[in-house]
Amino acid sequence: MQNSTNKVRVRFAPSPTGGLHLGGVRTVLYNYLFAKQQGGDFILRIEDTDQTRFVEGAEQYIYDCLKWCGIEPDESPLHGGNYGPYRQSERKEMYRKYAEQLIANGQAYYAFDTTEDLVKMRSDFKSDENPSPQYDSHVRMKMKNSLTLSAEEVATLLSNATPYVIRIKIPENETISFTDLIHHEVSFESSVVDDKVLLKADGMPTYHLAVVVDDYLMKITHAFRGEEWLSSSPVHILLWKYLFGLENMPAWAHLPLILGPSGKLSKRDGAKFGFPVYAMNWTDPRNNDFTEGFKEQGFLPEAFINLLALLGWNGGTEQELFSLDEMISQFSIERIHKSGAKFDYEKAKWFNQEWIKKLPVEKLFPIVKLIMESNGSQINDDNYLKTVITLIKDRCTLMSDFYEQSIYFFQAPNVLDIASIKPKWNIEKTLFFESFSDKLLPLNNWSAIEIENIFKSLAAEKNIKPGELQLPMRIMLVGGKYGPAVFEIANLIGKEETINRMSIALSQINIE
Ligand code: GLU
Repeated sequence: MQNSTNKVRVRFAPSPTGGLHLGGVRTVLYNYLFAKQQGGDFILRIEDTDQTRFVEGAEQYIYDCLKWCGIEPDESPLHGGNYGPYRQSERKEMYRKYAEQLIANGQAYYAFDTTEDLVKMRSDFKSDENPSPQYDSHVRMKMKNSLTLSAEEVATLLSNATPYVIRIKIPENETISFTDLIHHEVSFESSVVDDKVLLKADGMPTYHLAVVVDDYLMKITHAFRGEEWLSSSPVHILLWKYLFGLENMPAWAHLPLILGPSGKLSKRDGAKFGFPVYAMNWTDPRNNDFTEGFKEQGFLPEAFINLLALLGWNGGTEQELFSLDEMISQFSIERIHKSGAKFDYEKAKWFNQEWIKKLPVEKLFPIVKLIMESNGSQINDDNYLKTVITLIKDRCTLMSDFYEQSIYFFQAPNVLDIASIKPKWNIEKTLFFESFSDKLLPLNNWSAIEIENIFKSLAAEKNIKPGELQLPMRIMLVGGKYGPAVFEIANLIGKEETINRMSIALSQINIE
């Protein structure tokens, strides 16, 4: 089941019809991890045979998402390669001969049925046992196709350019079996499979024909794809058998479904439960329908791929945080689960928080800088921002938290939570902060420890517990009850700013 060089070749084969669902990225990831572990190639093939579903910008969006995730294809329409073109619409001419070969061998047939014929068939054959009849072995002999028409009639129709499709002729009473790397022995009774269209009236192949022909021509060795494709696999297996005698058929691995709060995780779940479902923001150009992405929601790509890897796979140990390289070395098909994997947004955020803690400041810096700037905060001193990031990174769950957690390092808070300190306020505290400011003013070696020393000895001198003064000082500098050590904040914002903020706060406390 391998190509002649035995090099592992896997593919991700999206249809560019919209945003990239997190399940799609997980499919990319498992393909990629396996290929890289085996020293193989990861191919991105664009399956755009359904021209009616073409969406402007969707292909570029897929490249952008993969780039953000740190996954670079070895071959693709963009990257090139020896097995191109990698866009199925550009391979149109390659598929017809395979469809015709099937007809010549009696494994497919021309079907001339019109849309009305098909509608009629669905109503004529509808019964209690069969509420949605398909074009299959039970009805095919009652339809208008090259199995029911004479050779002459077929020739005439073809020469008159009558529109037709080519359908696979699914055998009757056969069991179609194959070995899936995850589900092991899988079999389908042919009676439940319909005569799928292989070549459409516009001359384009359908996905079923194109996927088999392309996997063959591109020498794909392993195909990881979502479990929703399992029901199509008997058609693919038959095509592999008819066209290529099953030689070099890829090993199939149908990945478990990703479940949301109510069944299969859908785009609608995201909107309903308030979490992203797409990798990156996506606006459908046809109706301006906007769907939020993990990236813009404030996820790090490291966290995103890590949490996806664990949706359906485990490393066999307690380890939960994996870098891409660790995933590549530890990935194994044996540890992919069979049953659906539940997506838990709280857990997803936990991964992000851990990755924020784990990544060095240098890695976080460009992202935080962009966030600050897009919120209207001009960053003039990169090193200052890096110090701020060091101080607050353990307090951020999403990258977007960096703005709120750091803005007071750049500007005095607009609103102070005076209400939190007012009930326990007294004249002694006002006097404390006044003399504290007086003592800070001449301080030459401005540092967190010096500020703290002065604060504590003055508190002792005035017989006030330092604990009772720290919250007020925090609110004076930050605005609210959050942030890292208050003396670190004072140190960073500087002497003048610290004294200023305390004086503004004091006047507010004493007025309110
Ligand atoms: N074009 C299919 C999709 O959109 C590919 C399925 C497969 O990998 O065979 O997911």
